[in-house]
Amino acid sequence: MADDAIRCDACPVLCFIKPGRTGSCDRYGNHDGKLVRLDPHVVLNRAVERGDAVVPFLERSIDWDGSLVSHGETFVTAIGAGTTYPDYKPAPFIISSQVDGVEMVTVVTEGIFSYCGVKVKIDTDRHLGAECCTVRAKGEAVGHVTTSEYGSQMLSLGGVRHLTGGSRHEGTATSDALMNLCNGKAVELEIDDGAKVVVEAGKPPVVDGVREERMRVGCGSATIGMFAKQWLGKVDEVVVVDDHITGVLSEHQAGKLLGIPETGIKLKGRRSTPGRYFQVAEPGTSWGGTDIDDPLSILGKFNSRKAWPGLRLLMVSTTGEHYAYFELNEDLRLKEKELPAVLRQSVTRIKENCEPALCTVLFMGGAGGSLRAGVTENPVKLTHSVRDALTRVTCGGAPVYVWPGGGITFMVDVTRLPQNAFGYVPTPALVAPIEFTLKLADYGALGGYLDQVRSLGSISTEKVGKRAIAARKDNPWPLEAGAKSR
Ligand code: SF4
Repeated sequence: MADDAIRCDACPVLCFIKPGRTGSCDRYGNHDGKLVRLDPHVVLNRAVERGDAVVPFLERSIDWDGSLVSHGETFVTAIGAGTTYPDYKPAPFIISSQVDGVEMVTVVTEGIFSYCGVKVKIDTDRHLGAECCTVRAKGEAVGHVTTSEYGSQMLSLGGVRHLTGGSRHEGTATSDALMNLCNGKAVELEIDDGAKVVVEAGKPPVVDGVREERMRVGCGSATIGMFAKQWLGKVDEVVVVDDHITGVLSEHQAGKLLGIPETGIKLKGRRSTPGRYFQVAEPGTSWGGTDIDDPLSILGKFNSRKAWPGLRLLMVSTTGEHYAYFELNEDLRLKEKELPAVLRQSVTRIKENCEPALCTVLFMGGAGGSLRAGVTENPVKLTHSVRDALTRVTCGGAPVYVWPGGGITFMVDVTRLPQNAFGYVPTPALVAPIEFTLKLADYGALGGYLDQVRSLGSISTEKVGKRAIAARKDNPWPLEAGAKSR
């Protein structure tokens, strides 16, 4: 073109990029009239025994002697590999390598995922928002609250409807939030009629400005089951306050088996089974994920025919974060007293048994579409090959879980990838690395681009930035026989 701009054809946006400038996604640039992928292409090396140390072994424009390429020890990831568009073009790298005498092929591409999102697990008892409530980032709807799991609240963020089905702002905010979460950055989310929560993969959540420390030891009923014996003889009644299932020691089967007598206690809420109560209060961010600050607010009057003056009552939350000790006076009214030393230990034990609260972010993407055409001329054969476990799928070298059923819908824990492995394009969509590894013979059988297969050593001749990263020891080695993608 007249102004020496060149056209990037790596995604449907088809940016014109002037010399020295980058395209809309900052992934490609015009470098001396050539279209270049700007981030280094990441190669995992098993021989580099330095934890997660990043070892530059091929700088841009410096010839590389290939000394670090070792068959079976080097894995070419899709991070920084680039994308081909439209999809019928072969993937950017189709690399062969010898592994234990078997000729293997790894097809790598940075997939553009319009159908993608993240599933977030937030370890907390606190009520973040009602199921189905909208989750917002920068004021835009980017997902929703889904089920509460054991000690955790799940969010579903992204998906094609938020990326493409709403306004341009909604799509951009969604892709920003997804990319930042996938790249391990902190993202502030706000739930309609709920809490503000800062989510960062592998870090504790921050709920309404308070950093969560521990996830609960169990529900109220489970807590009674775990610690009943430790309370025997030290206290007459225990109530474990929980938004879901509040436990009452004397009524619970654990208390019955230990011979703990009835105390005449009366709980508000709906009795489910003996010693297990639902809906004792409204959900909230206080005691056991309820909205109560005064634990006595969930109790009715004691039954005077069963209760007795001096009865000792411990009330505790499922994390041990909240607790209070009471005794009944002559009028059978509860008076708060200092927690006796013999009970202090049991509260500490509850805390000790709580695991650290963390945020977990799983990227979920659908690779069963046109991306397959960059691997084979007969796309459905790739799907079958993945299903038959002949082809292993990895994401930046990390193991993935491939959902059963149709398509190639996979999930990956973003903390298991090298940093900054995810990008975006303004269509909007997320860019995520994906690699398919299989035997060369199987690749030929599924209609692969055999004429595009290049040796592992051939990448050393390219004058583009490459970066070797030590493979994570807790990830299965992608080239190892028997390493499964699910
Ligand atoms: S958005 Fe990025 S990948 Fe797409 S055409 Fe522009 S520079 Fe290329």
